[in-house]
Amino acid sequence: MDSNLNTSEILVMGSGPAGCTAAIYAARAGRKTSLITGPHQGGQLMITSIIENFPGFPEPVSGPVLMDCMRRQAENFGVQVLSDTIESVDFSNKKIKKCRGESGTSYEAAAIIVATGANARWLGVSGEITYRGAGVSACATCDGFFFKNKNVAVVGGGNTAAEEAIFLTNFAKSVTLIHRKDSLRAEKILQRRIFDNPKINILWNSVVVAIDGDGKKVTGLLLKNVQDNSKSSLPMDGVFIAIGHQPATDIFVGQLALDDDGYIITDGRKTSVDGVFGAGDVCDKIYRQAITSAGHGCSAALEADAFCIDINL
Ligand code: NDP
Repeated sequence: MDSNLNTSEILVMGSGPAGCTAAIYAARAGRKTSLITGPHQGGQLMITSIIENFPGFPEPVSGPVLMDCMRRQAENFGVQVLSDTIESVDFSNKKIKKCRGESGTSYEAAAIIVATGANARWLGVSGEITYRGAGVSACATCDGFFFKNKNVAVVGGGNTAAEEAIFLTNFAKSVTLIHRKDSLRAEKILQRRIFDNPKINILWNSVVVAIDGDGKKVTGLLLKNVQDNSKSSLPMDGVFIAIGHQPATDIFVGQLALDDDGYIITDGRKTSVDGVFGAGDVCDKIYRQAITSAGHGCSAALEADAFCIDINL
């Protein structure tokens, strides 16, 4: 037998809440299950300092701790967790799906659960990495609560930026929406809510060129007006970057049906290929929460098990 061949009944790609939950359910259904972690073991929660909205944790839990618990829970049920990144897939055979990892290992499985997630787009300006988790965030639902009575900014002009700005008014003293154009691309109904909200102020034609801090947390933003190139400083306690997400689906182009933004199209967790299922942010551009992803992982595993039964496995 090829020592570089890993075979399983259900192969899970991705080690975030969707992938770990899928693996737990697949293993508990009695299926030989492999989980390939991907490049960011534990997924997006690994860069989330405190989680207060995952049910079952009355006290705040750190993202890395939660993900470590999920991984260990999967391993306790016999899931083989492998540190590798899938770089190519071949889903042409209904009974045996083939994948290849960066490590050189080949993987074969009857059913595949894709939970490769999505990554927030970042601005790439100075201070953004330094103060991530200390005033810089890409998720108002996750971190908005920490900005009670503070002044915060949201960068972007799409639906996410609009929703985040509106959500943040529940906590913040003021919300400044910073957009590089002079009109929003967010849906009209969201625009109306933005314009009508007295806590939200919009800075048009402006981009963030640097995020300033005192070494511990964000203290302000350096802005540039794209019309006259003038620069200005804006004191600020936090900034939410909402300039879109990029689903991790490059390796599925030509193999699975994707929407215009590159997200996997699913119907009841089923993708366009029999025996391949999608879970979590890789197919969800709306909710993007750990708990919704975990729910997807559960239903994807139940579907994958049903598929294995269908092909007499
Ligand atoms: P979008 O791609 O729709 O919007 C991204 C925004 O960020 C745009 O306004 C864009 O500006 C701006 N932007 C992009 N890059 C930069 C940059 N480098 N610097 C400054 N600004 C930048 O992403 P969303 O996350 O808002 O939405 C993604 C998809 O999810 C959309 O299809 C959206 O409709 C959907 N969605 C739906 C929701 C709902 O229905 N409730 C909720 C959230 C998302 P510009 O306009 O100039 O291009």
